[in-house]
Amino acid sequence: MEPTLIDRLKKLLEDKNQLITMVVHANPDGDAIGSGLGFYGWLSEQGYSRVHVIAPNSYASFLHWMPGNDQVIVADEKETRALELISGADLLVCLDFNGMGRTADLEEPMRASKATKVMIDHHPDPESNFDLVISETGVSSTAELLYECLVNLSDKDAISLPVAQCLYAGIVTDTGSFSYGCNNPRTYEIVARLIEIGVDGAHIQRLIYSTYSEDRMRLLGYCLSEKLQVVSEAKTAYISLSESDLQRFNHQEGDTEGIVNYALNIENIRLAAMFTEKEDHVKISLRSAGDLDANKLARDHFNGGGHKNAAGGRSYTSLTETLANFEALVKNESF
Ligand code: 5GP
Ligand code: MN
Repeated sequence: MEPTLIDRLKKLLEDKNQLITMVVHANPDGDAIGSGLGFYGWLSEQGYSRVHVIAPNSYASFLHWMPGNDQVIVADEKETRALELISGADLLVCLDFNGMGRTADLEEPMRASKATKVMIDHHPDPESNFDLVISETGVSSTAELLYECLVNLSDKDAISLPVAQCLYAGIVTDTGSFSYGCNNPRTYEIVARLIEIGVDGAHIQRLIYSTYSEDRMRLLGYCLSEKLQVVSEAKTAYISLSESDLQRFNHQEGDTEGIVNYALNIENIRLAAMFTEKEDHVKISLRSAGDLDANKLARDHFNGGGHKNAAGGRSYTSLTETLANFEALVKNESF
């Protein structure tokens, strides 16, 4: 990491009594919550007295075990408090997203805030309207990048077990349990260090991935047996869920997470997609193999973005129309 970036971050963190508000992206995943709570824990332990973490909306219960989870302010539920902490912040730290648009209803309040704004993130094409941008697209996760920041701000012995657990959760979720985005010795060196600190990798794996409700497990089975569509000529497979499908399985936040990855496990499939019907839009998750650029697909056609092999977006037409458009689109591409 560039020393000047760390020097600038250090300078911005000089005052331990300033109001520091951290914000993560909407529909927060393990990397967003892990980075938010990892940084929150570290700052609290270092004696910063006014630190807060805001998530724009609620998130899956399999992330609720993280140390400090009860401190997260969900803006959807505590709007006044969240807006107060954004407008009154001295320092606004944006974690795991590359532009204010990723914070849903917090976008305008964040733009309007007079706070000094810092981005720590690993998505391509970061927006430049921040006072400090620490952005590395080659790292596995924001949690990995945050680890590098923390050890440069103090030293590696200043990372406690609760902080290490949060960072580990961020790395493990953003790499699909070390299966993509981490073909880099440095990720494993950091993970080794987190294990030395005391992280129990197998335990965290169970907390995140082996806590399915029966409904969630049956929903997965239904998706794979009844809802999977394969478009062989386009090397594409997709799954769609209507609102009534979701109701049938008593859908809870996070229940559909990870399902898209199964579609990419089919031999010769290069692009997988998952469409989930919401109240006023269709949520789209894309996964790709190799050089196929899911980020570009999400940006060009689905009002979204992300990484090359994992991206997402939205469609504002009906589920049926969205699926028809998607099929036509992939049949026209030469994967
Ligand atoms: P997921 O499919 O797990 O929801 O998201 C996969 C990746 O795509 C994540 O890195 C996430 O940040 C990104 N992503 C998901 N939805 C959106 C979106 O609506 N806009 C943008 N820019 N990125 C998204
Ligand atoms: Mn991330």
